[in-house]
Amino acid sequence: MRPIDYTAAHDVKGALQTLAARPLDSAPIGGGTNLVDLMKIHVQNPALLVDINGLPLAEIQEVEGGLRIGALVRNSDLANHPLVRERYPVLSEALLAGASPQLRNMATVGGNILQRTRCAYFRDISQPCNKREPGSGCGAMEGFNRMHAVLGTSAQCIAANPSDMSVALAALDATVHVSGPQGERTVAFGDFHLLPGSTPERETVLRPGELITHVSLPASRFAARSRYLKVRDRASYAFALASAAVAIELDGKTIKDARVALGGVGTKPWRSAEAEKALIGQPADEVHFKAAAAAALKGAKPRAHNAFKVELARRTLVRVLALAAGLA
Ligand SMILES: Cc1cc2nc3c(=O)[nH]c(=O)nc-3n(C[C@H](O)[C@H](O)[C@H](O)COP(=O)(O)OP(=O)(O)OC[C@H]3O[C@@H](n4cnc5c(N)ncnc54)[C@H](O)[C@@H]3O)c2cc1C
Ligand code: SF4
Repeated sequence: MRPIDYTAAHDVKGALQTLAARPLDSAPIGGGTNLVDLMKIHVQNPALLVDINGLPLAEIQEVEGGLRIGALVRNSDLANHPLVRERYPVLSEALLAGASPQLRNMATVGGNILQRTRCAYFRDISQPCNKREPGSGCGAMEGFNRMHAVLGTSAQCIAANPSDMSVALAALDATVHVSGPQGERTVAFGDFHLLPGSTPERETVLRPGELITHVSLPASRFAARSRYLKVRDRASYAFALASAAVAIELDGKTIKDARVALGGVGTKPWRSAEAEKALIGQPADEVHFKAAAAAALKGAKPRAHNAFKVELARRTLVRVLALAAGLA
């Protein structure tokens, strides 16, 4: 039995002070659906839990045509919010494709963005893992890597980012708002998660003691034409083998603008500028959807057990583009 200190914070300033007093061994807890899981298997071992559920960060507000989404908004509330369903269907669909209703009722926006990889070697402390223990090696590289990433991998780590919601946020040009001992700052969603490179233990630009306070979505021209499609081993309650979030703006049958992001295949939520370039200015048809899918997966580096993901991700993207364009 390992003793754990617990304290509940009631305002952001107080939470930051408590975290700053013990920067090395404290952790904020939102829904706890990832953190507590990892504590039970000794992968994460904070000695102080700072409960942030009492902070006033559970609101969804309309701001300048866009949305400000508090870090403590529950995944189910965000998925079912009328403005999200109407203006950002891709976000609602991505959230509803994740986990189970019970988990979504607990899981928060901040916690979902920061959830850790499901790599089985990361979650087993008897196995080597450069992410959990830098320099120890990588069990997945030559091991069972069926669920692992094919894009953004490094010689140190090939773990896939598991968050469905983050794929939609990447496509929607979201901004992450952060508060910390040095004040407040904003980070473009595409810059928030880091590629593993030679430091896979560093997953985001969040610094110790910082909190995500909210996420903002810009007013979007793509509102009505955004979709999420997830392919997985079971119809529900399973992580993505491949997923795609797209938003397109059509001018007649021509694609005027496009946003594309992939999930299940990248070491971070994978926005594909290459796929977007292949779509913009082209007719919305299967030929150009296939060209975009080929561009998105061009740099893929499959391993022994996950080569199937390359074709699966291509087909997922083609299909969801057809759905967004109203052709399927
Ligand atoms: C069985 C199972 C199936 C699942 N299936 C899916 C799935 O298909 N798709 C999917 O996307 N997800 C899935 N999930 C993951 C689930 O979505 C996450 O566990 C959840 O979103 C995490 O949110 P939370 O609020 O519970 O985070 P917590 O567990 O509370 O926190 C996660 C991490 O974020 C930190 N943190 C939390 N909030 C903040 C904040 N505001 N600022 C700074 N740090 C913070 C914590 O310290 C911790 O390190 C599944 C989970 C389980 C257990
Ligand atoms: S893929 Fe990454 S998370 Fe998984 S064992 Fe290798 S280093 Fe660890």
